[in-house]
Amino acid sequence: MNRRYRKTIIAGNWKMNKTPAEAKALIEEMKPLLSKTKWCEMVLCVPFTDIQAAVKAAKGSKIAIGAENMHFEKSGAFTGEISADMLKELGVKYVIIGHPSAVSTSTRPTSLRQEGSGRSRERSAPDPVRRRVSDRARAGRYHGSYPQADQDRSAERAVEDIKKVVIAYEPIWAIGTGKTATTEQANEVCSAIRDCLREKYGARAARGITIQYGGSMNAKNASELLAQPDVDGGLIGGASLKSADFATIVEAANQ
Ligand code: PEP
Repeated sequence: MNRRYRKTIIAGNWKMNKTPAEAKALIEEMKPLLSKTKWCEMVLCVPFTDIQAAVKAAKGSKIAIGAENMHFEKSGAFTGEISADMLKELGVKYVIIGHPSAVSTSTRPTSLRQEGSGRSRERSAPDPVRRRVSDRARAGRYHGSYPQADQDRSAERAVEDIKKVVIAYEPIWAIGTGKTATTEQANEVCSAIRDCLREKYGARAARGITIQYGGSMNAKNASELLAQPDVDGGLIGGASLKSADFATIVEAANQ
């Protein structure tokens, strides 16, 4: 973590867990445990059906509610999809884009790409798939203002946009498996991501972007992972469903 330049963010990803009533109960349980956070920001990304209950339950606390996916179009004939405006109106502050376990047809191939054994598989990933994930990310950054086309955007605007993004490095083999990257691996990759950001957006923007590690981060290994200079937080699956474990991770991020 490097608090001087960037936010520390611990985000839970509940995936397909908890009904609205269960979501309310879990957040009520978490609230007192998370009330003493200092600088660490806390987000719970919950299923679409839980958003309303979660926003209501989190009111008056420092917990922000996020969604687990979002479509890049403003509206249209996309069965089962959700737009940025729909989420925003419910009080959603963050959205996960391109998570490997998202079932949506537009994000699943990302997972296939990551599961591929080598670079050739990665290179052979169809471009429209990458485009759809990046379109979603772009729509999220614009928070509903929807650009006409890439070419219309100035470099300055691109830098402003990227500052709104939180990046999560998640080795696919570590998600939900109980296997965690070593602290060195996690820091090395987060640092390499920052190098790419520096090249594309400049040193100042790169220095300010939060890069999380995700992949079986838990109450036991969080302190060590979060102590790495380029690991600015965590995207937490399983451990975010247990109030005490999530609170311990947040506590580690506040050290
Ligand atoms: C995740 O949901 O992104 C994740 C990393 O899950 P887990 O912490 O369970 O590995």
